Amino acid sequence: MTDATRDYFVHDTALVATDRIGAGTRIWAFCNIQRDVTIGRDCNICDHCSIEPNVVVGDRVTVKNGVSLWDGMTIEDDVFIGPNAVFTNDVFPRSKKPLDQPDRTLLRQGATIGANAVVVAGRVIGRWAFIGAGAVVTRDAGDFTLWLGNPARPVGYVCRCARRLPVAYEDEVTGDSRSVTCECGLEYRIDVDGVTELS
Ligand SMILES: [Zn+2]
Repeated sequence: MTDATRDYFVHDTALVATDRIGAGTRIWAFCNIQRDVTIGRDCNICDHCSIEPNVVVGDRVTVKNGVSLWDGMTIEDDVFIGPNAVFTNDVFPRSKKPLDQPDRTLLRQGATIGANAVVVAGRVIGRWAFIGAGAVVTRDAGDFTLWLGNPARPVGYVCRCARRLPVAYEDEVTGDSRSVTCECGLEYRIDVDGVTELS
């Protein structure tokens, strides 16, 4: 529903226990957004999403249908989470074992998590990194890297525009730096420090 006192939208069927939600954000049907959750501006939280206390979501984030975000997760600006992507917050889960401190997961700015991918607890997904559909990520993903498979492996680099960059992946870049231009026109340098935007 929309009322005059707030500038974000909550569907009539959603449960929302926080008012720390930025302008222009839309929370769709059958979501459960718990207390102490912070959501930024112009986000889209689609049907059947669940967000636990202490989760922080940045601006312009898209969370497609059927995603749960657990205590311990931080999602920076411009992240895309595909439908039914799965996260966890306990690397040693057992029934009836209290979780004193969640294992933290960080999705950095612009990262994409593909549909039905899994990111296990405690991992960092780098800026503008791209996790392919169905990948199972058990390691940290560097900025602008592309990960596929189970267990997911880095297989290439991606542009901000999400196209794959025309350069081979190297586990450890040791030689000369390489410059590469995406077909969209954005330019990057790849060297021992990783991927740097030039434009
Ligand atoms: Zn591009």
